[in-house]
Amino acid sequence: MEKIVLYPSPGIGHLISMVELAKLLLTHSSSLSSITILIPNFPFITGSYSSYISSISSSFPSITFLSLPSVPLLHGDSSNYENMEQLTYETLRNNNPNVLQSLQSLSVSSPVSAFIIDFFCYNAVEISQSLNIPTYFFFTSGASALAFFLNFPVFDKISSEPYRNLKVSFEIPGLFSVPADHMLEPMLDRGVSYYEFVKMAETLPKSDGIIINTFESLEVKAVMCLKQGICLPSTTIPPVYCIGPLIAKQGDNNVKNKDEDKHKHECLKWLDSQPSKSVVYLGFGSRGVFSKEQLWEIAFGLEKSGVRFLWVVRAPPSKSKGDAFSNQDEPNFDTILPYGFLDRIRDRGHVAKSWVPQIAVLGHESVGGFVSHCGWNSTLEAVDTGVPLVAWPLYAEQRFNKILLVEEIRIALPMDESEDRFVSSSEIEKRVKQIVDSEEGEIIRKRMLDLKAKGRNTLNEGGPSHVALTTLVESWKK
Ligand code: UDP
Repeated sequence: MEKIVLYPSPGIGHLISMVELAKLLLTHSSSLSSITILIPNFPFITGSYSSYISSISSSFPSITFLSLPSVPLLHGDSSNYENMEQLTYETLRNNNPNVLQSLQSLSVSSPVSAFIIDFFCYNAVEISQSLNIPTYFFFTSGASALAFFLNFPVFDKISSEPYRNLKVSFEIPGLFSVPADHMLEPMLDRGVSYYEFVKMAETLPKSDGIIINTFESLEVKAVMCLKQGICLPSTTIPPVYCIGPLIAKQGDNNVKNKDEDKHKHECLKWLDSQPSKSVVYLGFGSRGVFSKEQLWEIAFGLEKSGVRFLWVVRAPPSKSKGDAFSNQDEPNFDTILPYGFLDRIRDRGHVAKSWVPQIAVLGHESVGGFVSHCGWNSTLEAVDTGVPLVAWPLYAEQRFNKILLVEEIRIALPMDESEDRFVSSSEIEKRVKQIVDSEEGEIIRKRMLDLKAKGRNTLNEGGPSHVALTTLVESWKK
């Protein structure tokens, strides 16, 4: 019987899709007896992390979560780090001795057939390869983003200026161009995390394969460019396996605490009372936050639009740098929203604090549009439910995803912003109206419904993602 080990990076968005991969592998491969998921000890976890892990452990006994011991941080306090990504890379690199020990002890009774890691864990490749364990990356964004990431070392040689103010575009061969200021948020200033991303991108091709959470009909061109090596002519790209869409089952990410789980979330009860496809949902992932000024602008835009809405609001970011990674304070609507706003929108709007069960929300009959930060999981969840998007990127690779969703796949309307990335109330008003009630919105909805159907079939016997999964499992048996 086979066993494999998965190594996700911290962050609920990365963990959930890795767990879905584990579930899929278990149902697909009868020779697979157990999956161990290494959980790094990371101080700044967002979302309902530990309750999610315990709910999966009890429902899937073949999946074991192995919590790794905490590791010291080189720069001490989190406020000494430029961003969350630098902290993540460093924590995971310092975890290498724990990874080595775990892989060695798991290999005692029988060999580990495969080690599957998140891209943030790229430093662990040297460990697993020194133990001769086949090592695969699990890329939690799409195929187009992978083609983009693979080119970071190429872009790095084009200019040594920080990307933030650079007026050039970088071309991904065979795909499209990306303006320098649309590069990953943590790469814009060419700090420590910039170089981590470049090194990570150099490591991707050294693996035995790259598993991508996407499906072929969603990203036709990118999948072809990866498979034919067009997008990175100078380097051999290992086999890619598009085995998505991997999406949590309804309810899996709604486990903040046991009691809450027994009751239907308030926002779902409210959605029950709204007309079909009338509500615009505004949700910005596990880390999306806005300044108080931007929150007011959103509130005014929603109010003027007259559109029904469900809006998830978090407390504005803390001014202190270290706190900004971990600020999970409950928002106080009395101090962060315009005076009287909640009363004035009472009949047609619902404002939720910090977190909603998004998959259930998107699957609700009343939801007709989604203003999203363009996180990849959120994108796949919107595709899976056929809900058209308005793209409002905030962090990570989301500015890249906006180009992909608006211009290439054409399943989103853009939320246009000013140079300093502020979005006006009139833009918000215009886009929320458009997405539920306009010809442009309707075109996007039709395209979404077509992709929804394709996405639902792709993991069925004989579908492209199912075939890729079979090929993947065969690859580590060789
Ligand atoms: N999510 C949720 N409720 C929220 C916010 C997020 O259930 O209020 C889930 C969402 O369904 C998705 C994940 O958290 O599965 C966020 O992943 P994504 O890749 O979209 O964004 P990230 O948080 O990684 O930036």
